[in-house]
Order: sequence, then C-alpha cells, then structure tokens
Amino acid sequence: MDCIFCKIVEGSIPSKKVFENERIIAFHDIQPAAPIHILIIPKKHIPTMNDVAAEDDALIAEIFSVARQIAKEQGVDESGYRLVNNCNAEGGQVVYHLHVHLLGGKKLSGLAG
Ligand code: 5GP
Ligand code: ZN
Repeated sequence: MDCIFCKIVEGSIPSKKVFENERIIAFHDIQPAAPIHILIIPKKHIPTMNDVAAEDDALIAEIFSVARQIAKEQGVDESGYRLVNNCNAEGGQVVYHLHVHLLGGKKLSGLAG
C-alpha cells in the first residue's frame, strides 16, 4: 500500500519515535509547526476520522491516553498543548492515515488556520 505512515509503521521510512506498542506509534513531525509537534497514529491503516468503526473505539481512546502520557513526558501537560485531527481536504488532511497531532511548547493561536 502506498501510505507513508504505513511505511513508518513498518520501519521502511525512518522516524523519530517517542512511543510504540502493539497498536500505536508516535513520532516527531518532519515539519514541526510548534516546538513540540508529535504525531500519534494507529498501526492499523484507517484513512480518516470518517473511517473509524465502532470496533476501533478502544483504539481511539488509547490514542488519547498515549497523547496524555507524551504531553507529560514532553513537559507540556501543565503549560498546555493541543490535539488536532484534520479530516479530508477542507480539514487540511494531507496524509490519509489517521493521526492526531500533539502541538505544544509555545502559546498556540489561530485554531481555524
Ligand atoms: P495532516 O495535514 O495530514 O493532518 O498532517 C500530516 C503531517 O504529516 C504533516 O504535519 C507533515 O509534516 C507530516 N509528515 C508528512 N510526511 C512525513 C514523514 O515522512 N515523516 C514525518 N515524521 N512526518 C511527516
Ligand atoms: Zn497507512
């Protein structure tokens, strides 16, 4: 499959990983939009938020749990951070493998870009 994030999951494209378990990986964004910019993704190829099925509920909950843990490890849990999912073209999605952006390390503004 021609999916850049599946290739990151496989390891055929390198990434700076900060977390991995059987279901999820998290790695630094290649073009950071903030001092801390980490992507948290399921290993399973789910193209967009619209493709999340009821059977994925536990996986989605775990992505948020991992995000919380990473925010703490990165030292931004108290100062604050933002979790973002872009869905489809007008949502600004570029990579069609579900991911949550964790952004922090500065005062964020401009929610709607
Ligand atoms: P989207 O706009 O789809 O929500 O975000 C995709 C994100 O993936 C972008 O912030 C982009 O910089 C990041 N990205 C794209 N290709 C790669 C890559 O090969 N490696 C990493 N680490 N990040 C990538
Ligand atoms: Zn994929």
